[in-house]
Amino acid sequence: MGVFHIVNQREKLVSREGLKGHGCPRCGGPVLAMEFDTQVVVFCVPFPHKIKRRFCCVVCSRRLTYSH
Ligand SMILES: [Zn+2]
Repeated sequence: MGVFHIVNQREKLVSREGLKGHGCPRCGGPVLAMEFDTQVVVFCVPFPHKIKRRFCCVVCSRRLTYSH
């Protein structure tokens, strides 16, 4: 039987920059790269920060994933 744990994830936007040479696959708009500082708190114990990168389109606000 599983047990639920409360996980609080705090995200803080640390940087925003336009991605040159890439366009949104849906509308061709410019893509914005955003970096989040993520801190996971489990049982009031904060785990080390992690930097997460997300991409989204400026025009249609789609969240995008980047693959090489
Ligand atoms: Zn778009």
